[in-house]
Amino acid sequence: MDEPLVARMRGFGETIFAEMTRLAVETDSINLGQGFPDTDGPPSLLAGAARRIEQGVNQYPPGPGRPELRAAVAADRAARYGLEYDPDSEVYVTVGATAGITAAVLGLVEPGDEVVVFEPVYDSYPAAIAMAGGVRRAVTLRPGPPDEGGRFVFDPDELRAAVGPRTRAIIVNSPHNPTGTVLTAEEFGVIADVCQEHDVIAITDEVYEHLTFDGVAHVPLATLPGMRERTLAVSSAGKTFSVTGWKTGWVMGPAALVRAVQTVNQFLTFTANGALQLAVADALRDEMDWVRAQRAALQRKRDRLSEGLRAAGFTVLRPQGTYFVMADIRPLGLTEGVELARTLPRTARVAAVPAQVFYDHPDEGRHLVRFAFCKRDEVLDEAVARLGALSPA
Ligand SMILES: *Cc1c(COP(=O)(O)O)cnc(C)c1O
Repeated sequence: MDEPLVARMRGFGETIFAEMTRLAVETDSINLGQGFPDTDGPPSLLAGAARRIEQGVNQYPPGPGRPELRAAVAADRAARYGLEYDPDSEVYVTVGATAGITAAVLGLVEPGDEVVVFEPVYDSYPAAIAMAGGVRRAVTLRPGPPDEGGRFVFDPDELRAAVGPRTRAIIVNSPHNPTGTVLTAEEFGVIADVCQEHDVIAITDEVYEHLTFDGVAHVPLATLPGMRERTLAVSSAGKTFSVTGWKTGWVMGPAALVRAVQTVNQFLTFTANGALQLAVADALRDEMDWVRAQRAALQRKRDRLSEGLRAAGFTVLRPQGTYFVMADIRPLGLTEGVELARTLPRTARVAAVPAQVFYDHPDEGRHLVRFAFCKRDEVLDEAVARLGALSPA
């Protein structure tokens, strides 16, 4: 048979994550390619879900999600950011942030419409845009001087040049995977101006909203003047509560945008696990101390791995949030991140992800490799010890 896959999805075959995971298993490597924690979420959250299942919360919940979770999400947004959403018409629960973003793109983007993203780009956005028949325009985030932390920033002129009459939407991820950049109100101001000037919808991926470091605060784009009415905000319990397998997410926005998501999503997944939704609703109220402790622990893990990467000869670009740190391999005398990521499991028994795969302009990320630090300290220490063997003479 000829290739049965539809043309628009070719090129989205085996991901680098699958390849690196297979290599990691083959070589018994520590896998710092995968972005999930190796410890569990708060005990009350786990017990809350188990209890609900035992109590019989096992049938379809309402399509838009359990009212308890929609109310908790709305209360949380109001308390932390001063953003008011009607839990009935402006909050909608999805199977993780991924389904929310994909349903949003499918519900809002016509074939041929352009969607602006920032590269390095989270891998589900290009796939969602391709499913919708949209056209992706990537604006590059580039690292600043390493001795100032190497924070990744975009050039406002490049953003303005990427937006035009065919632009329907922009997808903004902050805190940003994989660079760790937390966009400032000023940077969001540039994005907000562009959106309003060209009547563009913003889809914001805020799954790391709680995981910021060094006192840096997450800014929701919807808090900027004129933006609430054109922003669909997406978040999720997975990263906040270290339960990435739960796939419990939500979208928040004006009713018309939420309705577009709902119209698509009711035929994709219809609804999401109800027992987990009830547990997450409780945790959003009761487990914020746990989240704060988790954020502090992650910051220490960032520092622990970064120090080890520096000692091994990498230039480390300090992330302000997320699970990831980007490292520049050129001080090791290397230029090809893909090559290093393919050999690292054999030479050091550590797996990482080459950043190049997250770029439409591959030269921009050729020399960068992404490491996850959301792992137990002893795992990070062992990875650092193994990487130490790479040290240039
Ligand atoms: C992990 C991740 C997601 C996926 O969230 P789910 O709730 O598991 O679907 C979405 N966006 C980014 C940037 C992520 O890192």
